Amino acid sequence: MIEQPPDFFSSDEAQCRQLGIDAVRIMNPEDRDIIAENAARAVCSDCIFIENCREWGMSHDQVGVLGGMTWRERHNLTLKIRRERNKMRKHCLGTEPDYE
Ligand code: SF4
Repeated sequence: MIEQPPDFFSSDEAQCRQLGIDAVRIMNPEDRDIIAENAARAVCSDCIFIENCREWGMSHDQVGVLGGMTWRERHNLTLKIRRERNKMRKHCLGTEPDYE
């Protein structure tokens, strides 16, 4: 099942929509284009949905710049959060982490 994109992508308040930019979301992570990435980050930086968009991108493993972060940046942030969570779990509960 393909999940529909969240409503904020079609909101008139989304910066990418206001500027008519869909490329923010469709860049291929294999074709790194630093200039395009930075331009997309600049678009996202003024967007009221930046945090929701980043979280959605992280939970759906989407390519492209979402919430001001590239796929790789979101992926690395997801791994960091899991490591921290597991460290905290081990510290507080004494259980082994489910991910390293
Ligand atoms: S954070 Fe970026 S990609 Fe997400 S809705 Fe806003 S402008 Fe578009």
